[in-house]
Amino acid sequence: MKVCSRCGKQIRPGEGYHEIIPDSLSGARPTEYLHKQYCRRSSRQEAPIRR
Ligand SMILES: [Zn+2]
Repeated sequence: MKVCSRCGKQIRPGEGYHEIIPDSLSGARPTEYLHKQYCRRSSRQEAPIRR
């Protein structure tokens, strides 16, 4: 099962996605997937903006 690293949702078969293969120099990391079409990041998972 592929999960989008941006929105955290499953990428279904037939949906377009980008495959991001991490630099092997930085260690053994799992391949990441992103929806090809626009999707929103999961809320409040990113760095909060403080005023
Ligand atoms: Zn997504």
